[in-house]
Amino acid sequence: MLPGLIDSHLHAVDSAMYEFDHRVPDMETLADVLKYVKARADSLPTGEWVTLSQVFITRLREQRYPTRAELDQAAPRNPVVFSTGPDAVLSSLALKLSGIDKNYKVPEGVPCRIERNPESREPTGMLRNCSPIIKSKPSEKQPTREDFLERTKMLLADYNSVGITSIADGDTSDEQVEIFQQLKESGQLSCRTFLVLHVEASDPFDQIAARVHRAAQNPLHQYDNLLWLRGIKSYLDGGMLTGSAYMLQPWGISKVYSITDPAYRGMRYIEPDPLYKLARLALENGFQFTVHAVGDGAVQAIMEAYERVNKDFPVRDQRPCITHANFMNADIIRKMKELGVVANLQPDWLYLDGATLEKQFGDERLAYFQPYKTLFDEGVMVGGGSDHMQKIGSLRSINPYNPFLGMWITLTRQPRWTDRPLHPEQRITREQAIRLYTLNNAYLTFEEKQKGSLETNKLADFIVLDKDILTCPLDEVKDLQVEQTYLGGRLIYSRPGS
Ligand SMILES: [Zn+2]
Repeated sequence: MLPGLIDSHLHAVDSAMYEFDHRVPDMETLADVLKYVKARADSLPTGEWVTLSQVFITRLREQRYPTRAELDQAAPRNPVVFSTGPDAVLSSLALKLSGIDKNYKVPEGVPCRIERNPESREPTGMLRNCSPIIKSKPSEKQPTREDFLERTKMLLADYNSVGITSIADGDTSDEQVEIFQQLKESGQLSCRTFLVLHVEASDPFDQIAARVHRAAQNPLHQYDNLLWLRGIKSYLDGGMLTGSAYMLQPWGISKVYSITDPAYRGMRYIEPDPLYKLARLALENGFQFTVHAVGDGAVQAIMEAYERVNKDFPVRDQRPCITHANFMNADIIRKMKELGVVANLQPDWLYLDGATLEKQFGDERLAYFQPYKTLFDEGVMVGGGSDHMQKIGSLRSINPYNPFLGMWITLTRQPRWTDRPLHPEQRITREQAIRLYTLNNAYLTFEEKQKGSLETNKLADFIVLDKDILTCPLDEVKDLQVEQTYLGGRLIYSRPGS
């Protein structure tokens, strides 16, 4: 028996809706991608948009983006957007319909980068963080509110089936807040949910302030063990699978990531002053603040902002957070401990992408990649999550939300497609791996007194496993099955046939 598991970072509603219109096949190669683009184009009228999001090129065997020409060939009569994280490749027709040509100037205030052929100045098709200027229109059938509720409920039930009883929804929109609220009111919210409200950092500051003040007045901001609006999140940098995480050192020229500038360090979206003001605004209004910060440059930047706020008032009680924090260093970790900053990490990335990252950055630059052991040793509170963003199904989803896979990754640090563990000195013990998904995550959401361990006077969220996680062979940890899941003492999942 274990306490009910907690996933510290996922995107439930988006994930639930990802395949609402049609099933999206697994794609392992560029041929799979182009076949899918062609099939979609064939099924749509001429001129309708084919959009494919969050297929990470680093997870394709060829490890590169499709080219503009390949997209043109797969769908000559339909504009195509192939996007992954904030970055995208557009077909010629998509560029044309968006008005992006060799004379195009990015509007003031949009932190977007258009990759161009150095001689002709023609866009290559590769756009970084440019979604506001891409004029795509949905061609899928549009879900009703009922569809949203139904599919989200389905996903939550699937979370329960792998032992998850609590989630932190990592970037919630206003519409999504309403969906969670409606599920709660109708008694169908089967995971306790900590909401982290999305704030668009590029909005004018008075608009952001109004949004945060409104959130502070929302009745959901009062503690409730089922649904609590208690976090604010913004995006500080790009991603490591898309070549845009903001690093302290240059990325280095790369074919995989289409990087041609040797000094390029990635994309930083919020400058120091606005970042400080934003962090301060959230923290002083009773919210945990967090940013998406993947590269060590971004992690250092948010730490500098927290240090500055900490001179105005102590930040510790609001447990300021860093989401992802994949690349760190000893200094950053020491400062996190000093200020009481918590870390929200996702082991899946190590497993799915470790091999690619090693190729790009080399072993040494990965010495503090997801440094679980150092974080535990230094006393920084670290929690584990999936960053689930697509599809329902604990292993077919992206990223997989099976918490036992996540725990196994922290025990072995074994990336797929290689036989060499990634900095095995950063492995943790089974007890610590369990903590990542229980008590530590409860701390990340200010609920260590309510849940995260099996103790009297706590909420009776617990699960029964088919084997003892502490004594089973190491490789069986990732295959552990949940026999039963209880939420508040009530049986909400029972394994078929058990
Ligand atoms: Zn996320």
